[in-house]
Amino acid sequence: MSSKIRLLSTDFDGTLVAHGNDPVLDRGCMECIKRLQESGVIWAINTGRSVDLLESGLTDFEFPVHPDFILTSERDVFRPSSNGGKWEPFGDWNERVARKHAELFHSAESVLAEVVDFVNQKTKARLLYHSAGLEGLIAESEEELDRVTKFIDCARAKQPKFHYQRNTVYLRFCHADYHKGAALAELSRLLEISRQEIFAAGDHHNDVSMLDGRFAAMPACPANAIPEVKEAVKSAGGFVASKECGAGVHEALCHFAES
Ligand SMILES: [Mg+2]
Repeated sequence: MSSKIRLLSTDFDGTLVAHGNDPVLDRGCMECIKRLQESGVIWAINTGRSVDLLESGLTDFEFPVHPDFILTSERDVFRPSSNGGKWEPFGDWNERVARKHAELFHSAESVLAEVVDFVNQKTKARLLYHSAGLEGLIAESEEELDRVTKFIDCARAKQPKFHYQRNTVYLRFCHADYHKGAALAELSRLLEISRQEIFAAGDHHNDVSMLDGRFAAMPACPANAIPEVKEAVKSAGGFVASKECGAGVHEALCHFAES
C-alpha cells in the first residue's frame, strides 16, 4: 500500500533539536520539512513543552521553518491565532482535557499524596508546581526517576486513570487517556486526516503513545531514541533511523516519501 504523508507530528527536544550538538538543527531535515509544507503537508510539533517554552525554543534555536499547529504539554492542541496572539486553542479539546485532569487529580488525591511523600522522603527529586497545583517533578537522574515511576506504578493500582508522562528526568502527572497520541488523534480528527496519512517521530518515553501505530501509520525514531521507543516503532512497522535527531528524522521522511 502506498501512503502519502499529509500530516507530520514531530517531537521537539532530542528529535528535531540535538542539544549540545553543533549545529543543533539538521539543515537537510529543515529543508525537507519546508518542501513538504510547500507541497501542502501539515506540520505539527508534538511536545512536552508548554506553549511559552516551545516558542522560546523555536526562537533560541533559530528555526528556519515554523509549525502549522502545536501540541503542547503532551496533551493540548493549538492552532495559529486569528486575532493577534500567536496560538489559540483548536476547538474545545484543551478545556475538556483540563476539566478531566482537575476531576482526576481531585479523586486521586490520596495517591498523589503518597507519591509526594515518597518523593520527599526517598529521593532528591524536586516537585514542580504550576497555577493549578502539582504538575510533576524533576529527578536528579534517570535512575532516580526509575525508582519514582516504579513507586507510582504500584500506587496507581487503585486509581488506574492516574498516570504520568516521562521524558528524560522530567515527569508530568496526567490522566491515562491523554498523551501525545491522543492530542495527535484530536488534531487529525479536526483536520480530517486519516491515520494512514500521518508520520510521527519521537525519541523518549512520552513519545511512545504516538509511535505505537494507533494514531500514525508511519512512526519513526532517530538513532538516539531510547530502546523502548525503538521497540514500539519496530512493532508498529515503522522506521528506526541510523542517524541521530534531525538527520534521523530526515532519513525517515525520505524513507516514507519514497515507499
Ligand atoms: Mg524528545
